Amino acid sequence: MDSQTLWQTVLSDLELQISRASFKTLLSQTHLVSFNNKRAIVGCNNPLLINLIEKKYRKVIKKTLDSYTKTDNKIVFQPIAYREKETTNGPLFKTYLPLIETKGLVTRMRLNPEYTFKNFAISPTNQMAYAATTAIAKSPGSTYNPLFLYGGVGVGKTHLIQAIAHYTVNDKPTVKIIYCTGEEFTNEIIEAIFRKTTTAFKKKYRKLDMFLIDDVQFIAGKSSTQEEFFHTFNAIQQAGGQIVLTSDRPPEEINKLEERLRSRFVGGLTIDIGPPDFELRTAILLIKAKQRGVNLPIELAKMLAASIKNTRKLEGVFIRILIESQTRKIPVNEELVKKILGKSIVETEKKNRVSPENIIKSTASYYNIKLSQLKGKRRDRKFAWPRQVIYFLLRTKLDISLEQIGVLLGGRDHTTILYGVNKVSRILEKNEDMRVDILRIKKELFG
Ligand code: ADP
Ligand code: MG
Repeated sequence: MDSQTLWQTVLSDLELQISRASFKTLLSQTHLVSFNNKRAIVGCNNPLLINLIEKKYRKVIKKTLDSYTKTDNKIVFQPIAYREKETTNGPLFKTYLPLIETKGLVTRMRLNPEYTFKNFAISPTNQMAYAATTAIAKSPGSTYNPLFLYGGVGVGKTHLIQAIAHYTVNDKPTVKIIYCTGEEFTNEIIEAIFRKTTTAFKKKYRKLDMFLIDDVQFIAGKSSTQEEFFHTFNAIQQAGGQIVLTSDRPPEEINKLEERLRSRFVGGLTIDIGPPDFELRTAILLIKAKQRGVNLPIELAKMLAASIKNTRKLEGVFIRILIESQTRKIPVNEELVKKILGKSIVETEKKNRVSPENIIKSTASYYNIKLSQLKGKRRDRKFAWPRQVIYFLLRTKLDISLEQIGVLLGGRDHTTILYGVNKVSRILEKNEDMRVDILRIKKELFG
């Protein structure tokens, strides 16, 4: 295995071990700069993230890498900027298109080459979305504008919005088009403000013929981003350009989204994509197998689709099966599928067995305080709030009695616990930042 393939393998394994959000924002940005004499140099596209990655994931990265190389490696983290380019990684792994130049406008389009209309399986849950996106690809700006697609994780939003980009780039290469995520858009604005290049930023975005923005919910609550997005939106639309947005929830449920944006979002066509049913999941797997040139018997595809509901996990487990089959040089058969499936089911079950100690530890580390401080008597806000979050999580997630929670937290009275639990539920309704904090802790614990 060459070192790039090795790294992709390690990454696909890590993807299953840590939360999706952390993987996407942190680990997916890493690459292997070099790997010699059991010394792996890990770099990151965004040099600013490398310390965080090292701090949070050194252990698990090392463990995973070691497990594939069967050696004890030394890992060095280095802030090295790097741009993904088209590689010949083989059919197993995703490659990204290089920079695309259209009409002198360089568009950073990191498109997954597999996310095309041709590779999209249609079912009752997504046929409306499919019809709308293909119509837009064929005649942008003239049908539904904007198109707002929403749905849960793995329902195919990114696939469809990128399919529009693929189609357009092939069909009308001169169209000025940008595909980016809400997060990338936000980062670019922050950078432009910092570098005083907002004029260039405006010029770049406001002159687009097509603007595809994925996971737009990310911009909510960020005021300069929303402001800029609003003007970008208007400028593009007034000039007849097409806008497509995706989000994990409908516009009316995006908290802290400015009203003027919300009304823009629903001004065109809004479509939801439902979770894929068993047949669709089977079809998706067969497509993924075919793309990789793997002959996956339909019975095995069904077996996988029946056990795993989330398409991303499904794909992850499938890749694991392929890696195992390649490294051990054995065919993809029922035995192998059952083995890996069994492992992943055990892992999920383990994840579901969260103990009170897990909750206490994760919360303490999230708020960066020591266990002794948590169980201690000091009542400063710095300690009181995390304590209350723990009461809340123990009560609502593990259904532990108030008395027991009191004992777990260094002998506190049950009325104190009750007060804390109620306080957290009240604050959750009002304070977005605190809500996000708790969501993150939950995600860390329960996936
Ligand atoms: P979302 O953006 O909605 O979270 P993605 O578009 O990333 O979901 O889809 C997750 C995975 O499932 C991707 O690999 C995608 O190609 C695949 N997928 C989802 N729906 C379909 C479909 N209808 N046909 C083919 N592949 C699909
Ligand atoms: Mg997506």
